[in-house]
Amino acid sequence: MRIGTSSDDVRRRNLSAVLTLVHRTRTTTRAELTRRTGLSRSTVKDLVAELVDAGLVEETRPAGGPASGVGRPSPVVRPSRRVLAVAVNPEVDAITVALVALGGEVVTVRRVPTPTVPTAADMVRIATATIDRLRVGLPAGSAITSIGLAVPGLVHAPGSTVQLAPHLGWHDERVGELLSTATELPVFAANDANVGAVAEHLFGGHPQADHMVYVNGGASGIGAGFVVAGELLGGADGYAGELGHTYVGGTKACHCGAIGCLETEVTQALSSVSLDDQARRLGIALGGAINVMNPRLIVLGGFLRVFPERAADTLHAAVARHSMAGPRASVRIVAAGLDSETLMIGAAELAFGPLLADPAGQREAAIG
Ligand SMILES: [Zn+2]
Repeated sequence: MRIGTSSDDVRRRNLSAVLTLVHRTRTTTRAELTRRTGLSRSTVKDLVAELVDAGLVEETRPAGGPASGVGRPSPVVRPSRRVLAVAVNPEVDAITVALVALGGEVVTVRRVPTPTVPTAADMVRIATATIDRLRVGLPAGSAITSIGLAVPGLVHAPGSTVQLAPHLGWHDERVGELLSTATELPVFAANDANVGAVAEHLFGGHPQADHMVYVNGGASGIGAGFVVAGELLGGADGYAGELGHTYVGGTKACHCGAIGCLETEVTQALSSVSLDDQARRLGIALGGAINVMNPRLIVLGGFLRVFPERAADTLHAAVARHSMAGPRASVRIVAAGLDSETLMIGAAELAFGPLLADPAGQREAAIG
């Protein structure tokens, strides 16, 4: 606790700590919350009761053991499945919309194929109509907090504005504002690979994920997100992680103006003949990332999942040629733990951010 803060500030911060732990662990106990927060048992009991009253968590008493007294098992605390975020991911060929419950559980996914590359206005129209349909089927008492938008491009995080999404042809699109006006929900946008990195870091089930690189291969190219000491590396404007535009050899012109970029040389159209060649080029980029970031873990998502599964030897040999022995020694290269749900869970994490940071304030805002 900081000295000089009011008791209300302390209570709000403690509520945030408890709700965040419940969200990230998905199932925990009051005893475990007491241990991990360092707060007293009675304080945690009161905080959990407040979160239960707000409809944010559910508390149940496990079966077995005496009904009271010594040896009584600690109550189980879970995030409420009725607290939802919407995740939206525009791609060159589809708009995907998902409902994700607190705790990072994907409840429903709708992929709406588009006949042409969607404009920002198309995305807003399709996402809004899909959200309206999903809302109809929700159980009573459900609440959608906000929308997280995962965009394959450079997203100026504070304004939720897409500076450039080259494959979508979006330039300076105020997507956050447009989608928020249409749905009357708050919208938070970020780069798709950056939110994927957050999802794999928090929910991917990877040990030692505090120094991690997530690389995503999507229909709109390759992006990456870097987790450094447990935090996403945003860069000055939120543009960090453009590993797809590092030079990996080759002569193909890239839309970014350079030649031989990772995303022009390693593409979704993988044949078994090209797989080894593409694994070698991916290894060049990953070797560079290992030298620069010294990660413990590299997670490959989207179509890049095939490399650790089907071309591991070639990939590791290329990484060995293009990185130094020291930082390479402890790094593991694995496929994404969340499979196709990585981006949806990551986008929802953006949307849950304000609620997790201040559960009491969000509740007051909802009531007011
Ligand atoms: Zn490029």
